[in-house]
Amino acid sequence: MIRDRYDVVIVGGGSAGCALAVRLSEDPGRRVLLLEAGPDPQPVPEIVANASMQTRLLLESPYIEMYPTPRVIDDSVFHNLAGRIMGGGSSVNVMSVLRPMRHDFDTWVAHGNPEWSYERCLPVMTRIESDQDFPHGPLHGSDGPLYVKRPFTLDMPMSDPVRAFIDRARSMGLPHCPDLNVPEPLGVCASPYCIKDGRRQSTAVAYLEMARGRS
Ligand SMILES: Cc1cc2nc3c(=O)[nH]c(=O)nc-3n(C[C@H](O)[C@H](O)[C@H](O)COP(=O)(O)OP(=O)(O)OC[C@H]3O[C@@H](n4cnc5c(N)ncnc54)[C@H](O)[C@@H]3O)c2cc1C
Repeated sequence: MIRDRYDVVIVGGGSAGCALAVRLSEDPGRRVLLLEAGPDPQPVPEIVANASMQTRLLLESPYIEMYPTPRVIDDSVFHNLAGRIMGGGSSVNVMSVLRPMRHDFDTWVAHGNPEWSYERCLPVMTRIESDQDFPHGPLHGSDGPLYVKRPFTLDMPMSDPVRAFIDRARSMGLPHCPDLNVPEPLGVCASPYCIKDGRRQSTAVAYLEMARGRS
């Protein structure tokens, strides 16, 4: 039901907007309106939900927007891909869950944002996730809304080009890096993904689903 007064209006139900709406509406006294320009199909269409349909999602689905974006360097225009559906980018992206590195946080602090230090943000990053591979360490969360797992490991069968790439990296001295989401990852890593039983865990799924019943 659309009411006429809200405490918070969130424009854009994307990766950030869905999570924000759910967190803010945890307080039953706060009225939150989430506005999304794209559709909010229920159930989520198979081409979005099924992680193995990623390529077709990008090439064939109506949920991709291509924003003309001028390049600063010469004013030429490229078309920036984005999601236009509830969940935004998290409903169309490649689903890898990669944290910023310590260097990124240090840079943000150096630009005058002391709240964005690695130490200040770590509790937020752990609260977001439910890491299936590292549930007990101090760097990871085990009961957050976002399911995170590394479905591919480096000892699995892989295509010849991928095997050759990894072997070459190792022969150059790059170590095996079991966890990409540490402050300073180095080496050949298996990427973490937000895919649960083959299904995409967008913020529309991982977050918004739990709050749709809130009035
Ligand atoms: C093809 C692709 C692959 C990617 N792969 C990865 C990956 O593997 N891992 C990763 O971490 N990141 C990936 N990203 C990037 C990531 O998805 C984005 O950085 C992230 O989704 C941005 O979140 P956001 O909340 O800022 O914006 P978005 O998620 O884009 O949300 C913005 C929302 O606002 C809506 N909107 C726009 N205008 C209006 C309006 N006027 N009124 C109401 N609503 C409006 C849009 O429809 C959209 O839903 C990928 C992105 C793309 C496009």
